[in-house]
Amino acid sequence: MTTNDTHGITPQTAAVHAGEAPFVAHHSLTVPIVQTSAYTFANTDALIAYQEDRMFWDVPERVEYGRYGNPTLYAAQAKLAALEDADDALLVSSGMAAITTTLLILLSQGDHFIITEDCYRRTRIFCHSFLARYGIACTTVKPGDYASMEAAIRPHTKLIFSESPTNPLLRCLDYPRLVQIARDHGLKTVIDGTFGTPYNIRPLDYGVDLVIHSVTKYLAGHNDLLAGCVVGSFDTIAPLRQAQGVMGAVVDPHTAFLILRGLKTFGPRMAQHNANGMAVAQFLEDHPKVRRVWYPGLASHPDHALALDSMRGYGGVVSFEVESDGAGASRFIDALRIPQIAPSLGGVESLVEQPYIISYYDMAPEDRLALGIRDELVRLALGVEDTGDLIADLAQALDKV
Ligand SMILES: *Cc1c(COP(=O)(O)O)cnc(C)c1O
Repeated sequence: MTTNDTHGITPQTAAVHAGEAPFVAHHSLTVPIVQTSAYTFANTDALIAYQEDRMFWDVPERVEYGRYGNPTLYAAQAKLAALEDADDALLVSSGMAAITTTLLILLSQGDHFIITEDCYRRTRIFCHSFLARYGIACTTVKPGDYASMEAAIRPHTKLIFSESPTNPLLRCLDYPRLVQIARDHGLKTVIDGTFGTPYNIRPLDYGVDLVIHSVTKYLAGHNDLLAGCVVGSFDTIAPLRQAQGVMGAVVDPHTAFLILRGLKTFGPRMAQHNANGMAVAQFLEDHPKVRRVWYPGLASHPDHALALDSMRGYGGVVSFEVESDGAGASRFIDALRIPQIAPSLGGVESLVEQPYIISYYDMAPEDRLALGIRDELVRLALGVEDTGDLIADLAQALDKV
């Protein structure tokens, strides 16, 4: 039904169709949420013209079904691509979907790739358990050990996957060195840049091929949705977009709208995350109840020089060990008033966790220790609250350690 003329039809049919035509959206200040699963054709000739034309499109002008695209989604993707100054971005249903889709499409049976040891835990699980079943081999190297990275390259090595800064110790990559190794051996580079964000670092500027983000974190920024993206050139994103149409990890239009809405304040949010991170890291480093702080903006961080060279700011995540044991760290966390206990990061609300309890609880203590995860390690994911309020809260809670 394409008019509002509901004369002569039953209320039952009117309830389904009336009032929806004509669809006028183009003078809207904001991008409308185009909440549909399918797209219609005026008549059979229009459908045939669409089928004939679409073979020649690089970027679809329209699609026929929601798994292949949506106008609200296109706007969010274009904004994300612009943030990285890239050709194109693909939005998918979570950060993990971005990682799994990318690796499944870039790698084939018999291939080998390299990841760094401190990558997101689910990424490492996917690489070692899932991809191994499909005959794709993976070597893990220590962060910062570029000699081992180069030594791990085999004839069938296709790519290097890494992350920067990493979770929870915020190790940073030497981008020029990584890209040089990859180029010397004809490998692709894929970086999970979730902790960095395009506000603080743009890996594509160094020649990295693809950047992945958990949009769930700083980009969407409000702790209220899950999404992921892959950003790069048209040529590298196109096969991923086709794969998404087959594999199905799509973002619904309402989530795409929330991403657009969240991104409006990306700049001011990041400025405050960075300011809070730096101030809190300095406060903690001077505090007698704190043994050690990891924050790339501090001179004491092992990758401070790399961070200074490549990053505009260092983000809102600060990790530190209290001068106590795991129970002392828990007493500190339980005494906090502003940060809530939860995983995740990058949202407006400050969050806090003891990594050993939240992400590594199922791991043997000696394996956790080998990764540098002590029981008394605390990860603070600072939000955009007032810096003074946060520091006052941390000060009173540190008295309970
Ligand atoms: C959260 C996170 C992911 C996974 O993203 P989801 O949106 O939760 O699927 C991947 N990498 C990093 C670095 C993350 O912080």
